[in-house]
Amino acid sequence: MSAPHVHDLVGIGIGPFGLGMAALSEPLADVDAIFLDQASEFRWHPGMMLEGATIQVPFLADLVTMADPTSPYSFLAFLKATGRLYPFYIRESFYPLRSEYDAYCRWVAERLESLRWRRRVVAVEREADDTAASADEPFLVTAEVLDAAGAVIGIEQHRGRHLVLGVGTDPELPPSLRELAAQAGADPSAGPVLHTADYLPARESLLAAGSITIVGSGQSAAEVYRDLLDEATTRGVQLDWVTRSTRFFPMEYTKLSLELTSPEYTDHYRGLPEELREQLGREQRGLYKGISGDLIDDIHEALYRLSQGGREVPTTLLSDVAVTAARHDAATGEHVLTLRHGQLGTQREHRTGAVIAATGYLSSPPAFLDPIAERIRFDARGRLDVSRDYTVDAAGRIHVLNAEEHTHGVTAPDLGFGPWRASVVLAAITGREPYPIEQSIAFQSFGLPPQPARPGATPATAGSATSR
Ligand SMILES: Cc1cc2nc3c(=O)[nH]c(=O)nc-3n(C[C@H](O)[C@H](O)[C@H](O)COP(=O)(O)OP(=O)(O)OC[C@H]3O[C@@H](n4cnc5c(N)ncnc54)[C@H](O)[C@@H]3O)c2cc1C
Repeated sequence: MSAPHVHDLVGIGIGPFGLGMAALSEPLADVDAIFLDQASEFRWHPGMMLEGATIQVPFLADLVTMADPTSPYSFLAFLKATGRLYPFYIRESFYPLRSEYDAYCRWVAERLESLRWRRRVVAVEREADDTAASADEPFLVTAEVLDAAGAVIGIEQHRGRHLVLGVGTDPELPPSLRELAAQAGADPSAGPVLHTADYLPARESLLAAGSITIVGSGQSAAEVYRDLLDEATTRGVQLDWVTRSTRFFPMEYTKLSLELTSPEYTDHYRGLPEELREQLGREQRGLYKGISGDLIDDIHEALYRLSQGGREVPTTLLSDVAVTAARHDAATGEHVLTLRHGQLGTQREHRTGAVIAATGYLSSPPAFLDPIAERIRFDARGRLDVSRDYTVDAAGRIHVLNAEEHTHGVTAPDLGFGPWRASVVLAAITGREPYPIEQSIAFQSFGLPPQPARPGATPATAGSATSR
């Protein structure tokens, strides 16, 4: 009996980052790869596929271009193949529609042979169960094969020398709202309590609840608020927006700040002590967790237009207000939030028919890694301890994509940085650089590098300037 086939890499998760990895692996003769995803096909954030929404990064931040501008899987190649290149050219906007980006990714996915959909990975093991097994023994990946309804119809196993985890992040509900969602689930008359990831399919039932409260202040919160505002006003539905941030802050988009999305700033960030990274992560929220300036202005303009002639707009916008508790009042069918103002310390109850949690996403180590947990580095908080080259094991054969925000900072979820990270992973897998890996792209320096020699200065005097 022939030995089972061993791939160079098995990828788990085919979101934008796994798909980018597959598109960049495909042309490489020395990379035999297979990618598994539990979904039936590529679908990018369907719950937030709002009409007219654009992606927040330029079209060059597609799956491949920043690593290989000649790739047949680029966004421009997609536009050309679908007859959209001239309209896009005339449109003169760097920012594709979100739905267009989704269609582009599906166009790429349809052209790659290494993808396997309806494969839910349930375990990653070592073939020989003794921990002394040689470091380069392949991983054994077990996946459930699902039918269109999601039922398990079979089991599949794949072997790979390297593992690439692109399982993304999960919608996060704060404990109070998680509990409320459970209570609401038990009352058929209750209005929805949901995360923005599930927004669009529930839009009508949210409006039917008669009053809606959005909790959170990022781009998704603002998009949902803007999407509901006109219709809620017309239908007399109360629409409240509550955030614990001290203001509805804009996404920072200035060039020297954007330079933090760079290899050298990621080096700097990864080299910092964990506590400092935590603090910086909070301080840098404005870089990618704020609201785009255009959308903030669009919301203000809509409020201005809707309130013209003294018309009442049934909406409130509250900042520096945290939801400290939540319960469902089965007697009235309402949800009751306890709101507390940060600066004033005052609090009151807030009754609403439906709650939308725009409370972000969280990366957590997938359970299918448990069988090989002893080989994986975790930090004191149980998170993956990701090294600078995106690996989490001593042998350097388990690579992560977008599970490293706590170690690498803003570049982790950034679509534009995906190809660079994939290039680093492919270099580790092939032992060469299939795609050039830029080491520095910014004009500014990070950290405190030695003072550069002044033009014309002799090497000896270079450092003496300060001594003068
Ligand atoms: C609404 C929204 C808009 C965004 N817009 C932008 C933007 O404009 N620009 C930007 O830079 N970033 C944006 N982001 C951030 C980020 O780029 C995206 O979240 C991106 O989708 C992350 O890609 P990913 O590949 O890490 O994960 P995901 O897209 O979450 O994909 C993960 C995949 O893994 C699969 N999977 C998970 N577990 C298993 C398993 N056990 N077995 C098999 N498959 C599994 C899932 O089915 C899924 O397909 C946005 C995020 C959101 C939520």
